[in-house]
Amino acid sequence: MDHSGAHNRPHVALLPSAGMGHLTPTLRLAASLANHGLQVTLIVGHPIVSAAESKLISRFLSAFPADQVREKQFDIVSVDPATVNSKDPFFIQREATRRSLQILPSLVSSLSPPISALVSDVFLMSPVLEATANLKDLPQYILFTSSARMFSLFASYHTFFSETSPDFSKVGDFIETPFPGVVPIPKSSLPPPLRDPKTWFASTFMEDSKKLSNFDGVLINTFEKLESDSLKGGKLPPLFTVGLVPCEFEKGSEQGGSAESIIKWLDDKEPGSVVYISFGSRTTMMKEQIKEMGEGLVRSGCPFLWVVKDKIVDKEDNDSLEDVIGDAELVEKMKEKGLVVKEWVDQGEVLGHKSVGGFVSHCGWNSVVEAAWYGVRLLGWPQSGDQRINAEVVERSGLGVWAKDWGWMGERVIKGQDIGGKIGEIMRNDLLKSQAEQIGEEARKAVGDGGSCENAMKELIGKWKNE
Ligand code: UDP
Ligand code: UDP
Ligand code: UDP
Repeated sequence: MDHSGAHNRPHVALLPSAGMGHLTPTLRLAASLANHGLQVTLIVGHPIVSAAESKLISRFLSAFPADQVREKQFDIVSVDPATVNSKDPFFIQREATRRSLQILPSLVSSLSPPISALVSDVFLMSPVLEATANLKDLPQYILFTSSARMFSLFASYHTFFSETSPDFSKVGDFIETPFPGVVPIPKSSLPPPLRDPKTWFASTFMEDSKKLSNFDGVLINTFEKLESDSLKGGKLPPLFTVGLVPCEFEKGSEQGGSAESIIKWLDDKEPGSVVYISFGSRTTMMKEQIKEMGEGLVRSGCPFLWVVKDKIVDKEDNDSLEDVIGDAELVEKMKEKGLVVKEWVDQGEVLGHKSVGGFVSHCGWNSVVEAAWYGVRLLGWPQSGDQRINAEVVERSGLGVWAKDWGWMGERVIKGQDIGGKIGEIMRNDLLKSQAEQIGEEARKAVGDGGSCENAMKELIGKWKNE
């Protein structure tokens, strides 16, 4: 089959991994490609884990004409959770997807017109390569959904351990990556699942990391102003820094719904006065910590919008807000200054609202990029995974600060007094405010005409057009 892509309107297939943190940047990339006139096929494994993912895919598909953007579905096999040593449905889905990709060659061959490139999520690397080994002319790209700093760790992870005696205690206090501009990564920031190279997660990370050079390029969702760390050097395929920012198709709060009342509530507040608290799409908080968080928000003295989450998958989230907070008196106290919700909010709309001046975030990479895009200063409270590494980017860039001694998720309960104090500090910090605003301006330049991200996107598209 002709994969040379000698068409003026290249057709690109995108393969996301499980979870909103992966789907969102994939769809933002897809929307950007479609807006540049390309044809896009989204390859989606079914069944889908969360309601949030299903809704976002529907929104995306209905935002573009069917001859420009399409979905191609495939079946995901079921796997025994014990094999991934995790109860996390998104982890299990990731492995199940990895085991379902033998379908790729026939699926790709059935696409018409023939595709000019396949862009796969970083978490699916090895099985994608294996499945498509016979499609020699198919240009293959990776979408890396975390920070460039995290990429430097990913790209060099396999060099930190000896395969015969993988021993984390032999790794020094700071991890030097072979990327000259990347400030060494404190050992304490390494994602906990990567501390033991024998675990399922670490072994796939190790296996995949070695194979980067088999790809034609890696797309990273970042901006220069956020991560000026150079990523040159090393045996890598070309890197394309594409800024993947909130898109039109993501909007769509139902009229009269609670989303509307959130915006109305924000409309009544002073510009820049509100602190927004959300830990992303899949990070939960222990009951005891939820209570302290509530106390902390009341103590901060700032108006606050808090998205509470105590179930990993939204479909299982049926408890009332009162049950989750577990303290009727606190719920009443919070009503004086804040709005607490337990549902999906349009984070782009919230961060873009003029009343919102600060963001307490777990530092999921999409949340960081969104804070940067809207120029909202951030207090990072990393909970798991790549989040400390992303929090380091937040602090180095000047977008915000992070709570370094608050531990990983569930390690200890942080008192309301400490939380309230830290929030008050960032909300009063005018230097942080202006730095964050400047980052927002620079992000817009990077994504705008002639900006570095837009240029990277054009370069990629040029390759796919065989220009
Ligand atoms: N998000 C949202 N509303 C919510 C929770 C999350 O819009 O109530 C979005 C958020 O804006 C981001 C994504 O979901 O785009 C979460 O990705 P991130 O990388 O921040 O964290 P993860 O959920 O993967 O931990
Ligand atoms: N959701 C989403 N985007 C939205 C609204 C909802 O992704 O704009 C997801 C979110 O994960 C939420 C679930 O869909 O938990 C159910 O949404 P909603 O509360 O709107 O319930 P519905 O009445 O639509 O069933
Ligand atoms: N991670 C990564 N690249 C990504 C996203 C995550 O290397 O694009 C790593 C991160 O270091 C973490 C692991 O993946 O150790 C799993 O993290 P998590 O489940 O929190 O990631 P998510 O699925 O939410 O992206």
